[in-house]
Amino acid sequence: MDPARQVLTDGALVYEGGRIVWLGPARELPQLYRHAPSTSLSGRVILPGFVNLHTHAALVILRGIGDDLGVAPAYSPKVPQGVFLSPEDVYCFSLLGGLEALRFGTTCIVDNYIYADQVAQALAELGLRAVVSERLHDADLFLVPEGRYEFETARGAALLARNLDLIAKWEGAAGGRIHTRLGPHAPDTCSPAYLEQIRQAGEQAHVGYVTHLAQSRREVAQIAARAGQSPAAHLETLGLLGPQMIAGHCIYIEEDDKQRLAQTQTQVVHLSGSNAKGGMMAPIRDLRDGGVNIGLGTDNMAGDMIEVMRLAVCIARMRGEDNQALWALDALEMATLGGARALGMEAEIGSLEVGKRADLVVIDFRQPHLMPVFDPVANLIHNGLGSDVEQVYVDGELLVENGRFRQIEAGPVMAEAQARATTLWAALGGLPTRSV
Ligand SMILES: [Zn+2]
Repeated sequence: MDPARQVLTDGALVYEGGRIVWLGPARELPQLYRHAPSTSLSGRVILPGFVNLHTHAALVILRGIGDDLGVAPAYSPKVPQGVFLSPEDVYCFSLLGGLEALRFGTTCIVDNYIYADQVAQALAELGLRAVVSERLHDADLFLVPEGRYEFETARGAALLARNLDLIAKWEGAAGGRIHTRLGPHAPDTCSPAYLEQIRQAGEQAHVGYVTHLAQSRREVAQIAARAGQSPAAHLETLGLLGPQMIAGHCIYIEEDDKQRLAQTQTQVVHLSGSNAKGGMMAPIRDLRDGGVNIGLGTDNMAGDMIEVMRLAVCIARMRGEDNQALWALDALEMATLGGARALGMEAEIGSLEVGKRADLVVIDFRQPHLMPVFDPVANLIHNGLGSDVEQVYVDGELLVENGRFRQIEAGPVMAEAQARATTLWAALGGLPTRSV
């Protein structure tokens, strides 16, 4: 992912103090490094770590059920919604979601959920790089699925105060691995006055924002009724579009919205898998052609960035009925440098270049589904699996080795998550029935 998009064969990479200090053909390795401790990785491919630009790690609680509940399943009245979860639940599920992300090669995760303090704690303990925010809304989320919007100032204020505490506590924490943002949930679930307040808070705290934008027809209809605008135009009016905003989904956008996102340099995150499960496709090729920076995210109940890269390619090709609409390398760029740019962290992460952080993923290509190799990027995106990740490093720290976690035992986390999820679903009277 360097500017020349080089693929080095028989390469060597040297890191020191958490940063890449040299990379190039192995035969040119400087004498200085010849006797340094080293690992031979023949048959493997080293990539920049993946940046999962939009997720809610704790929503693993909905896995296998929410996947079939349509758009934004986390707000369905049939599921254990965030307010039913304790901070301890959020911590446990975030550990599980974070383990999944790490196992599949994510080194930087952008998470938005309630009790973000616990999310930050879990992700920091796992050694991940993370950007966290509290889920901010002043609408009553229980009523939104019925199309009813009731705003309560006290609810919004309490959540905003919690997000500001998060920023004070976590910005730059864990050796600089943790960063913070403000997380206005969506244009429809935040009143205009509340969005204005959030914008001002972001300017004062010098942090950016993450949100969901043009995610559902209900949101579009609500903003049309409330403001006579599209959701993107609404955010622009309130001063919330711009390079500091990372907008997830962007499905229901018209031509003028595409220009609006490009002109304001708003960052867009393509949630290819999550959109597809809800039966939707975002116009990512158009946005990209218009000059919008695009990152990739897994959103709910999944953490495999290789899968969402493949889905991004397939969906762009399906949507345009054009088998050249997006290439493997485009998807890899979105999943690495695109995400880094969106975060304003492209000088630090997103590519393998001297001076950047040693956030590395090692993929084992010595497997039937990845051989023969001529174009490793195409093999990875079209045929790779998250489980092909063999090693993961953040800041030069080896966190996954031979597919196993070095810092933490996954067994007890999985057992506790199963127990907590069982209790939470049982409290709702059991799992929702599906018409199959
Ligand atoms: Zn989301």
